[in-house]
Amino acid sequence: MTLARTLKVAVPVPLRRLFDYSVPRGMDLPAPGCRVEVEFGRRNLIGIVWEQSTQEQAAEQASQKLKPIRRVLDAAPVMDPDLMQLCQRAADYYHHPIGDVLATALPTLLRQGQDAQVSGELFWCLTPRGQHAEVDALSRAPRQQQALSLLKEHPHGLAVPMLSALSVPRSALQALEKKGWAELREMAASESSSKQLLGELPLPPGIEQEAAIRALREANGFAPYLLDGITGSGKTEVYLQAMEPLLAAGKQILVLVPEIGLTPQTVRRFEKRFNVPVESLHSGMTDRERLHGWVRSRLGEARIILGTRSAIFTPMKSPAMIIVDEAHDSSLKQQEGLRYNARDLAVWRAHMLDIPVVLGSATPSLETLYLAEQGRYRHLRLRERAGDARPPTLKIEDCRELPGHTPLSPRSLKAIADTVNQQQQVLVFLNRRGYAPVIQCHDCGWQAECERCDSFLTWHKSIGRLICHHCTHERRVPAHCPKCGSSALTDAGSGTEKIAEQLQKAFPKHPVLRIDRDTTRRKGSLNAALAKAHSGEASILVGTQMLAKGHHFARLTLAIVLDADGGFLSADFRGPEHASQLILQVAGRTGREAHRGTVIIQSRHPDNTLLHTLLSGDYATIAARLLADRRMAGLPPFGHVALLRCESMKANECIELLDQLAVLPVDPRVQLLGPVPAPLERRQGRFRFQLLLRADLRAPLHGAIGQLLHVLDRHPLARRCRWSLDVDPVDML
Ligand code: ADP
Ligand code: ZN
Ligand code: ZN
Repeated sequence: MTLARTLKVAVPVPLRRLFDYSVPRGMDLPAPGCRVEVEFGRRNLIGIVWEQSTQEQAAEQASQKLKPIRRVLDAAPVMDPDLMQLCQRAADYYHHPIGDVLATALPTLLRQGQDAQVSGELFWCLTPRGQHAEVDALSRAPRQQQALSLLKEHPHGLAVPMLSALSVPRSALQALEKKGWAELREMAASESSSKQLLGELPLPPGIEQEAAIRALREANGFAPYLLDGITGSGKTEVYLQAMEPLLAAGKQILVLVPEIGLTPQTVRRFEKRFNVPVESLHSGMTDRERLHGWVRSRLGEARIILGTRSAIFTPMKSPAMIIVDEAHDSSLKQQEGLRYNARDLAVWRAHMLDIPVVLGSATPSLETLYLAEQGRYRHLRLRERAGDARPPTLKIEDCRELPGHTPLSPRSLKAIADTVNQQQQVLVFLNRRGYAPVIQCHDCGWQAECERCDSFLTWHKSIGRLICHHCTHERRVPAHCPKCGSSALTDAGSGTEKIAEQLQKAFPKHPVLRIDRDTTRRKGSLNAALAKAHSGEASILVGTQMLAKGHHFARLTLAIVLDADGGFLSADFRGPEHASQLILQVAGRTGREAHRGTVIIQSRHPDNTLLHTLLSGDYATIAARLLADRRMAGLPPFGHVALLRCESMKANECIELLDQLAVLPVDPRVQLLGPVPAPLERRQGRFRFQLLLRADLRAPLHGAIGQLLHVLDRHPLARRCRWSLDVDPVDML
């Protein structure tokens, strides 16, 4: 029998299909998963062989005179079948071009045709002299000091990409090298296999932890778990103990975390516990580092793979478990290109690999919680804090009478004073950076707006600029009102910069530390700031959601939540869910050790019943209420939605296009709602409109999406607009 010598190839072009090519005589037929170079239009592109055509397909194609592939790059597949299956499923589910899915799934260098065989990687290790060096000796070189103490915690060395993830500057390491304290080594990753697995002893688990660990250890084949444990309940300890027997058996574990740079503590806990190579994959890596990590995971050398959402596409030789930590976090959802949710892909992938998957959270998304209630996920609960820590007390502070220019109420200020006087730490949380969100003219009412967006310009006082937070537009602060010439310009509202300034004035003896995207832009600055927060050197922390996630500040006992109302009043149906999660996550930073925490929620709508439900600190109660609302509205998880967004310089083009789509005769079980302007109607000079698709069942929804896309692909207006499809959107903006 002769084999069909034609292939279906995934080519990196924005078309939702595979392309047929023939294999020239004399060339070996490449297997699915191999890279091939093909001619596409007038370009040569690198694609992946997706499947070999059947005899029948080949016979059909015989008449079409297929183009031959130009070159086969790999003797053996670079993509494993399970990953190809994951990519295919993502392409189908998100209605996204398979070639572009590969852009997310494969390291850049592989897509550019680089060799997939990579040699060992460089690690920084301490020399024997370095191991005995005193950290205090470097108190005048804080970066070297930080590098030294990190390396001391990692006796088997830290890989270069990991150090860059932890924002340790190369210069600091080189300075240690000059002193003869540190050295670069190419360490074979298997070196540690002779050591014993545990680098430190596990903590004796509490009763609930023990039950959860037992359940996870009993898992056999595919099994999805929700580890629903309040903040500080010791979820990480459960992961670690569940992983232990799997690692002992030589297997690999993939752990997804929201943002590695933000919580280097978590990475360290995994590294300290086990003497196995840990690979961390994150956005700060170079293409080469990323390829190295990819290869090491694929070869099975990396045993724990820790990464942000795109790490879900990491190949593994012997995967045994997938863990998604902080599974509610919206960073798991990609907001451009392939708009996938790594949490969902984690469950699909675990299913394909027939291994358990654990979604861990103190505030699980309503979708996840519902699946657990339905018995589709096994629900493991940790209702108590680990060790001696007790849950925080939450209070609402009625701020209706508070004048607009005083962001902190007198009672909040008093509580801050009491806390810092007892040598405890305070966190003031406000999810708005900058000094003030608006500046305006006292005389004529003019307000500084972005020329290209429907938004005000935020005043960043320290750099004297007005900046739009929706585009890159920025300008100098005017001395006079551009409309009436008055010099009576005032600001309204407050951002973290103003809060930090006011607090520093009110508490001159207590260092105030602001942590937000503006203060942590420079490489290394986030780590330095977190170090100050951890050491307690800063008594008052002011920050955005960067401070809400995962941190464990030992002496933090008071959190003040400013401006809590926004999310509850938002037009986004997920607004109340996200606001509740955020407040409970902030609360979760307090009282994690001996002293009990207090959380003051400042509100101008103190009667909001959701806010009151939140006071119990019990996420399950508020989730039940929110779920009841969703059920009434037929919104997720009781219905399914997709959002078709359209942007154009001309509003009428978007509206016309979406209008035509909105009247298509789709399955009557699908509702097409809109078009309506997006919550931010104009951004970067483009008008933005959207069409919401909703259905009780997924199948008709996906059918309708297919119909809409079929029309869009051929519609002349679609070429003049930018459009995108978001299946299961998490953010309606
Ligand atoms: P979560 O991830 O659920 O917020 P963590 O895993 O960060 O909680 O644990 C919170 C704190 O409790 C950590 O300092 C951890 O070391 C400690 N801890 C966890 N489990 C135990 C235990 N069984 N006994 C004592 N302390 C524990
Ligand atoms: Zn004016
Ligand atoms: Zn703008």
